[in-house]
This record gives sequence, structure tokens and C-alpha cells, in this order.
Amino acid sequence: MDLIEKSKKYLWLPFTQMKDYDSDPLIIESGKGIKVKDVHGKEYFDAFSSVWLNVHGHRKKELDDAVREQLQKISHSTLLGMTNVPATELAEELVKIAPRSLSRVFYSDSGAEAVEIAVKMAYQYWQNIGEKDKQKFVSIKNGYHGDTIGAVSVGAIDIFHKVYGPLMFEGFKTAVPHVYRYPENDPEKCRDEALETLENLLKEYHKEIAGLTIESMVQGAGGMIVLPEGYLSGVRELCSKYDVLMIVDEVATGFGRTGKMFACEHEGVEPDLMAAGKGITGGYLPIAITYTTEKIYEAFYDEYTNLKTFFHGHSYTGNQLGCAAALANLKLFEKEQINQQVARKAEYLQELFEDILDLSHVGDIRQLGFMCGIELVYDKKTKEPFPFESRAAYKASLKMRELGLLTRPTGDVVVFMPPLASTEAELKEMVQIMKQAINSVTIEEALHVAATSY
Ligand SMILES: *Cc1c(COP(=O)(O)O)cnc(C)c1O
Repeated sequence: MDLIEKSKKYLWLPFTQMKDYDSDPLIIESGKGIKVKDVHGKEYFDAFSSVWLNVHGHRKKELDDAVREQLQKISHSTLLGMTNVPATELAEELVKIAPRSLSRVFYSDSGAEAVEIAVKMAYQYWQNIGEKDKQKFVSIKNGYHGDTIGAVSVGAIDIFHKVYGPLMFEGFKTAVPHVYRYPENDPEKCRDEALETLENLLKEYHKEIAGLTIESMVQGAGGMIVLPEGYLSGVRELCSKYDVLMIVDEVATGFGRTGKMFACEHEGVEPDLMAAGKGITGGYLPIAITYTTEKIYEAFYDEYTNLKTFFHGHSYTGNQLGCAAALANLKLFEKEQINQQVARKAEYLQELFEDILDLSHVGDIRQLGFMCGIELVYDKKTKEPFPFESRAAYKASLKMRELGLLTRPTGDVVVFMPPLASTEAELKEMVQIMKQAINSVTIEEALHVAATSY
């Protein structure tokens, strides 16, 4: 049986309708720089950083060497009741780069777990200090925090989450300031209205609210929605005012993705808890972290018999190979000035996008650093979306694949999140491919919609 047949016979892929996979299978065999190669030898730009992970490209020498070196010592030992060398050294480095409020690192293996841990910590924090009524969470509509039940409970994307409704714990959902879909073209008004809605909620219910979860500066999976300036810092102020722990999700935005080490730096926000993952190992290995303040840490620090311990951990928590890769990754951030580079190249990218924004079915392009979304619409003037059945962005991504570029849309939004090390020439080539694919697919789709529905 050839590999493609085997993949269809034995695999069940994440976030994938397998009927789609069966008609368009793909198996990656190798990668180098910002390109990956499939089993037939066809090359593709990794324009979504293998789902938002990759930083320095594939087979980066320093990362390869760090993992190889660690292999000579040990691959894994537990973090339950003890630690290991790279996990300890990495924790120090991670605290150095974190917002000032954060001084402790708790390891896990994925972004969803990092969020889940933050939620459990926030909940138990109030229990431990005797504020027993503070049990609920506020989350932002359209937010995404991963796929475990806890992370889904604080998420709010109907198409992914609705079916699990009965399994989820209840909480409050508050409005998202989505400027493009706001009736008036006024980011400040859109922001202030959302903050007012949140304040009204907190004013009434803060005595039963433990924490608030929010993606930092950009809602990723919800459609690359860049939050208007001043919103995140406004949320910070409200959380402090009403004694609610602010849990910032930097899983997608952290580690340079937006041109800062963490996106909350754009507004000088200091969270109470912060989840990060994805780019932490340069896209090599599954490490994630939850940062906390010393104040939260201390609420768990006591005689064992008082049962304030944080009873949570995973088999592979603090894995040595992953931590070694993360340490090497952080060194590269400094050596290659990654954040400064992204901030600079993002401006160039914005210029390149002007061409795409001109296309007749591109409604909006949203960008913060190298985190970008191109929203396809049926009618550019009225912002009317393509019908759900059109799958215009999905079809555009298949066209891009044909043209040698991989990405994966979220709804009607084409995601562009190239590795942070992408050069200007590579950015230009990738944008050209996307433009060509978007143009041909949307024109064809629009004709099809016009012919069938009227
Ligand atoms: C990807 C993502 C997660 C989940 O991370 P996994 O490692 O896939 O579990 C959580 N939050 C945000 C904002 C993400 O983009």
C-alpha cells in the first residue's frame, strides 16, 4: 500500500473533515528554511508556520544542535517533585523576558493545557485564600483558547464549540470590539462600547468572578481580529478595578509573532496569568507554559496537609528535549534580533498587501506583525460574506497549495503567518502566490453564487 493510501486508511486528522482530506491528501516528508517538501518532491512555502509555530524556518542548525546535544544526556525525566537542568535554566530565561508582573513558570505540552492550567490556578487561588464565591470566568466572544474541555469552556466560537455545550462549564461572554463588522467606521467608539459592556458585567457580578480570559491583541482562530488600540489595557484596568484575575492567552501571539516578544507589550499590559506555547521551541517540540505572579504562587504555598497544592501535571511536563530547543530558540531571538526584524519587515508586508486589498472580493486585511488575515467577502461594498457553502477561503488555500504555498483558513479569512525568519524576497513571493489564488478563486466563486442564488 502506498503512503497516501495508508494515510487514508489509518489516520484521523485534527480539525479535519476526513472527506476533505480523502479528496486532497498531502504528506510532508522534509523541510528546509521556510519551505516544506511532500512525498512526491513538490515544495511549498510554509506560509502558516505549520499552524503558527515556526520561527526560524525548518532544520535551523542551532536548534538541531541543541536537541542533538541534549539527546546525549537524557531525553526525558519527570517534573513531579523534582526538576531537570534545561527546564530550570529555561524558567529563568522565560521570567527575564516576561512582563514584570510574572515571576513563575508552570510547564505543560500544549497551548490548550497552558490555558486550562491558568483557569484552574485562578479558580483555586480564590478558593485557597477563602474567597469561595469567586468561581466563574468571563471570556470574549469569538475567542479561542484550545480544544480541551476547560479551554473550550472559556472559548466562544460557535462552529467549533456549540456541539460540546452540555459538557462545558458556564461562564459569561462579553462583546468583542470587531472594528470591520462594527456599523460605524470608528475604532475608538467600537472599543469604548465593548469596554462599557464589560464594565457593566463586572460591576454586577464581580463577587462571583474568578478571572477573565483574553487573547492578547489579536483573536487568532476567530478570524485574525486585531483588537482596537487601548482595548487590552482597558480590560486590564477593569480587571484590577473589580478584583478579577486577568488571564492573557499569548499562545499564538507570543514569541515575536507580532513584533514584540509578547503582544501585551504593545500596551504595557501586565497580566496575572499568561499562557504561551506555539513559538516557544521555534516550532520544534511540544512545550507550553503558564506564567503567574508571585502573589498567586504564594496562595498555594503551605503545609501539604492544608491541601493547597496545585494538583495538576502531565507525563511529559518539562521535557528536556523541548526545553533545550526552547533555550536555543531564545538565544536566537537575541542573536538574530528577531523581534526588531519582524517589526521592520511587517511594514514592508503591509505595503505588499495593498495589492491584495485592491482585489474585488477582499473586504479587509488585518495585521499585527507577522500575524495576518485576509477576509474574503462576496460583496465588498456591503461586506456581505460568501455563503457558508462556498468555502471560498478553503478553495483559495487549495489553489495556493497547487501553486506551491501552504496555509489554512479560519472561516472566510485566509491566514498568513509566515515563519518570523522569512526574508523580504520570500514575503513578496508568498504574497504574489496568495494574490493569484485569491483572485482566481473568488471571481469564480462569486460568479457561481450569482448564478445559483438569484
Ligand atoms: C493555538 C492556540 C491555542 C491552543 O494551543 P494548542 O497548542 O494547539 O493546544 C490556544 N490559544 C490560542 C490563542 C491559540 O492560537
